[in-house]
Amino acid sequence: MLQSPEFNSNLIKAKAKKFGFQNCGISRADFLEEDARPFESWLKHNYQGEMSYMENYFDKRLDPRRLVEGSKSVISLSYNYFPEKNLANLGNLKISKYAYGEDYHEIIKEILREMVAELKDEIGDIECRVFTDSAPILERSWARKSGIGWVGKNANLITKQTGSFYFLAEIICDLELVEDYETTDHCGSCRKCIDACPTDAIVADRVIDGSKCISYATIELKNEIPAHFKGKMEDWMFGCDICQDVCPWNRFSKPHQQEKFKPNSLLQNLEKSDWQELSQELFSEIFRKSPVKRTKFAGLKRNIEFLTDSKTSNF
Ligand code: SF4
Ligand code: SF4
Repeated sequence: MLQSPEFNSNLIKAKAKKFGFQNCGISRADFLEEDARPFESWLKHNYQGEMSYMENYFDKRLDPRRLVEGSKSVISLSYNYFPEKNLANLGNLKISKYAYGEDYHEIIKEILREMVAELKDEIGDIECRVFTDSAPILERSWARKSGIGWVGKNANLITKQTGSFYFLAEIICDLELVEDYETTDHCGSCRKCIDACPTDAIVADRVIDGSKCISYATIELKNEIPAHFKGKMEDWMFGCDICQDVCPWNRFSKPHQQEKFKPNSLLQNLEKSDWQELSQELFSEIFRKSPVKRTKFAGLKRNIEFLTDSKTSNF
């Protein structure tokens, strides 16, 4: 079945909607020219901290054709994770919204596989691979290029209609498709995210020093949390949403409809003192399917203990 690039592009966007993606944009699989220098400079400044995996596959990160041979298009997609209830408002220890429910990697990949299976039925044999935060891909750059949103001063991708609380995913394929255009930047003179960041991790416009970021300290860091985070963590025990919570564009976020992203009741009901006494058994029960299991019990316990010692915590 040989269809035109226009037909296939429209079909893909209709399928994306059917499978629950908020936005879908298309770019030509090519070298990410304008991202090469900033990415190199970010690495040179060591803003990746202990995330040394960011230094690997430099060429593949910048050119999807090196990742998926024969690829012609990158289809970028966004999937909402904005919750109905903000658990961070309950005066408890805080977990980033993206981690309230089950691990997005598996859920979104499964949705992508089903979507590709339908596309193959309708378009014919397509060579493609699907990704969500799972390979050396500059996801945000591809989403920006395809017009899903602009990169805000907090370095998150922001969409006018839907804010920034969404996961990014990609289908890299050998289909010729119609490219979309980049959107314009709507940060203007706002600097709410820069002013709100408690650790001054937004070191320049759209540049995050990962080693100063609470998300990095609570998730990526394998060793002790450095003393300079003391008193600045604002009770975040896994991730940090501050620079997104203050962003005016997130006023437009609407709750997701994905059952599997909903928090389990234990997560909603535990209080600060319960977290302090967290056992391995309880950790496994609450986070068995959650992205929080990445830190393992020892990592979350370390974070909780760091907060307990911190002056700002109300234990
Ligand atoms: S996630 Fe938190 S610590 Fe990191 S840049 Fe945003 S506000 Fe700052
Ligand atoms: S808070 Fe303001 S400056 Fe920061 S990303 Fe949002 S709109 Fe841009």
